[in-house]
Amino acid sequence: MPEPLLRVDDLSMVYQRRAGLLGRRAQQIRALNGVSFSLGAGETLGIVGESGCGKSTLARCILRLLRPSGGRIRFDGDDLLALPDEGMRVMRQRMQMVLQNPFSSLNPRLSGFELVAEPLRTHTAMSRMEMADRVASLLAEVGLGVEFMSRHPHQLSGGQAQRTALARALALNPDFIILDEPTSALDVSVQAQIINLLLGLQRQRGLTYLFITHDLSVVQHISDRIAVMYLGKIVEETSSEAIFANPQHPYTQALLSSTPVPDPAADRQRTILPGAVPSAANPPSGCAFHTRCPQAMDICRAQYPAARFVARSHRVSCHLYDESA
Ligand code: SF4
Repeated sequence: MPEPLLRVDDLSMVYQRRAGLLGRRAQQIRALNGVSFSLGAGETLGIVGESGCGKSTLARCILRLLRPSGGRIRFDGDDLLALPDEGMRVMRQRMQMVLQNPFSSLNPRLSGFELVAEPLRTHTAMSRMEMADRVASLLAEVGLGVEFMSRHPHQLSGGQAQRTALARALALNPDFIILDEPTSALDVSVQAQIINLLLGLQRQRGLTYLFITHDLSVVQHISDRIAVMYLGKIVEETSSEAIFANPQHPYTQALLSSTPVPDPAADRQRTILPGAVPSAANPPSGCAFHTRCPQAMDICRAQYPAARFVARSHRVSCHLYDESA
């Protein structure tokens, strides 16, 4: 079996922050807690969870924009956490990220040409003429004409700005792109266009995606597999089909029950979760979901459930699947 392109093992991220009166008390925020997964070349893994579950921290740790507190990250056989800074700088050319709001990620003072050419100027020795050709072809790849070379971000619609951000991310021919809520700020019709564009780019370029979102319905058509996160842990991971056809974790079931379905007459029982995701500074004991789980049992308050395979390639962390339960 080929080595996966990306392999994350037991990743943890703990922040220290000052709390209490006059900031005298040190407080630990456990943003990631034992996160493990692997991702093959050309695959898409969807990472799904509510705000505060650790999805964006995970993305930043993978690109080493944050230093994880523990665990390992291997990319194409290299241990990213052991790479010297210069090695990581070179590696980042192969690993790009596209953010939720293109208007905050694109410098408003730069034109389309300057925005897309910036990585080429930093990392290659291309002449201005070569860069102009390359930028025009990158813009064409994302469905924008040459006229967008002279447009500034304030002259773009949300979809056009996200296409420009994608062209910029593609400039150095990456293998892997982290898409952090790339469609959340867009209208529904534009979301579908961007998802179709991403699928086309993946087919043509053999790209590998980590697609982060709070909305399960967005990742349904683009993901090969989906990992559901809750308070810094992956609670369920399996194929995209199995998540939608046969969700096992009560949290996944609740997320799915609030996902819109194409047929409004379809019978779906909605589970409304009480409250929000608890603070990572003060996580509940045992299974962190027990404060909101409609099926919580006594053991859930005392012990965190181990991950178990309930089917081939379908792992769940929930006491409902303990052998004795
Ligand atoms: Fe609910 Fe218990 Fe399963 Fe956690 S372990 S999801 S609280 S049933």
